[in-house]
Formats: sequence, structure tokens, C-alpha cells
Amino acid sequence: MTVFNFSAGPAVLPVPVLLKAQSELLNYQGSGQSVLELSHRSGLFEHIIEETESLLRELLQIPDHYRVLFLQGGATLQFSMLPLNLATVRQRVDFIDTGSWSQKAMQDAEAFIQTNIVASSKADRYRSIPTDTIRSDADYLHITWNNTLEGTTFTSVPTVDVPLVADFSSSILSEPIDVSQFDVIYAGAQKNLGSAGMTLVIIKEDLLQRTPDRLGSYLRYDTHATHHSLYNTPPTYSIYLTKLVLEWIKEQGFDTIVERNRKQAASLYAYLDQSTLFSNPVAIQDRSRMNIPFTTSETELDEQFLQFAERHQLVNLKGHRSVGGMRASLYNAMPTAGVDALIAVLERFEQGER
Ligand code: PMP
Repeated sequence: MTVFNFSAGPAVLPVPVLLKAQSELLNYQGSGQSVLELSHRSGLFEHIIEETESLLRELLQIPDHYRVLFLQGGATLQFSMLPLNLATVRQRVDFIDTGSWSQKAMQDAEAFIQTNIVASSKADRYRSIPTDTIRSDADYLHITWNNTLEGTTFTSVPTVDVPLVADFSSSILSEPIDVSQFDVIYAGAQKNLGSAGMTLVIIKEDLLQRTPDRLGSYLRYDTHATHHSLYNTPPTYSIYLTKLVLEWIKEQGFDTIVERNRKQAASLYAYLDQSTLFSNPVAIQDRSRMNIPFTTSETELDEQFLQFAERHQLVNLKGHRSVGGMRASLYNAMPTAGVDALIAVLERFEQGER
């Protein structure tokens, strides 16, 4: 059965990537070993991890003075690693509060250091990104670039005199970014980069000096930088899958993917905005292209729609439990046919079909 998978993550992967992974599963490049069986110290795996880094550097145009790390623990471990490594001078971190994930990042940081909200869209029920001029004299400013639950995204980089740290978990590689405007970028792999298990951290080299002496080896960015993400056993299969996804992006052309993302999101928003049944609450200028929440405003009707959609092979459209309603995640691997099918099913439901 073919379905269109609108999950927020782990999420849809490109079919050619899955086919390639399948073809290499049992015998990786004539080695007689599965990719899953490769030692992380083998030449074959070293080549995989080097190639993954080099593709990322190429696609995101990462400057040489940034280090690229492949870690475990999800984006969630970064909520602790960031303050432990970087909040060591003033022991204070500033946050722009744009909803659930920025709050989670802040709550974990609070276990170690002092935190402070410098701007928040709470009063707007997180339906927009704050426009305040940001002033910060903390060790760094943390932002959540794309808010997976609320469906909002930053569209410009806040200018501050302190290092800028950004959670790009749900929008990495969906649009071009100027890496040099950030000091740390991090993202879990399970949305736009590959499968769950690997977390990407791109960190400006000079920040590696900030780590205090007394911190366990895995928790230190400098450990991973020194050992090229091979200090301990890395999430080998997840790194391999990211390599395949990056090769797929390069083959399609990054520009082509960015343009397709733009068009797909625009057509779903256009439908929702003219609909008399469904609506999206987010301020137009701050709408995410990756995560699009919508609702009929009636819980029972939302539930009926979800069942109707599922009968038409559209799965994982249920909104996050804290937000309710529906959410369509349109990551890079979502084909235009999936978005067209969703719009057609929304129309049929709106016209009364059940
Ligand atoms: N930040 C954002 C923006 C997310 O969307 C998520 C996961 N949905 C996380 C952090 C947490 O990621 P993980 O589950 O990889 O720890």
C-alpha cells in the first residue's frame, strides 16, 4: 500500500534513498558486509562519514572555521550540552521564546545556568515570531528557527553581539541559510536529514575553547571535534542514511528542492486561506514551509477528517497532542503528488463527503 506520510518526524524519506539503502543493506559495495555491520573504525565507514561531512559542507556552504559533528542523544541532548559547554563565562543564556521546543531547551538549560527570555510570542499564542529588537549580554542567544508544533519560522536572523545558537531540527536543508550568521546550528536527523539516531551540530571553531575542564568526555564538543565524531561508536546507520539523503538532494539540485518546498507550502496555504471550513492560525509572514497546522475548530470534525484522510492513504496528519487539530509536515521528501492529494481530500471533506 502506498501512502503519503505527513509525520513531523521520523518522517517521509525519498523513495530513491530507501531503494539505495535496500540495495546496499546486505552487501555494501562488494565488501560482503551489511552497512549495519561495518566497524566504525573501518575504511569503508570512514569514507561514509567523510563523504557525509563533505556533502553537508558543500550544500550548506559551511565555512572552514566551523566544525561539523555527528552526535547522538537527539536535539534534546543539545539542550544540555549547549549550556554545559558554552555558558561558562557569564553563566547566563538568553532565549527567544517561540513555543514548545524553545521552552524545552530553556528548561534543560535552567538545570545548569541562569536563563532569561529576551522576547516571546506567548501573548500571541505563539502564532508569530517576535519582532522586538534583541539585546543580549549573555553567553549566547538561543532561538528555535522553525517551530515544529506551532508552524512558525524565523525569516531573518536576529542581530546580536553574542553568539547565536539555533535549533534547525525541523527545517535544516529546506532553504538556504548563511551559516556564518550563526555560531552553532543543530538539528536531529529524523526530519530532513535521514533517520532517527544522529544529531548534526555545526559549531564555530573558536567556541570549542569555552568548554570547562570538568565535563565528561561525551558531553564535550571538543572531544567530538578532535576525534572527527569517532570518539565512541557513532550512529553509523543514521549517518549512512544522511549521506544518501544528501546525495539525493545534490542530484535533484538544492535550488529545485527549495523551490518545490516553497510551491507546495504556498498551494496548501492558499487552499486553507480560502476554505470556509479549515484554517491555519499563523501570521502570514511567519508561516513555516515545513510544518503546517490547521483545524476545523471543532474537535469532533477534526477527528472525522483524520479518519477520512486515512481512508484516502494520507497518514500521520494528527496535530501534536498539545496543539490538537491537524498538521501536515512537508519536508524535502514529500512529493508534490502528496500535497495535491491532501488538498483534493480537504476539498472533498469540505464539500460534505465523509
Ligand atoms: N527541536 C525541535 C524544533 C524539534 O522539532 C524536535 C523534535 N520534534 C526536537 C527539538 C527534539 O528532537 P529529538 O527528539 O531529536 O531530541
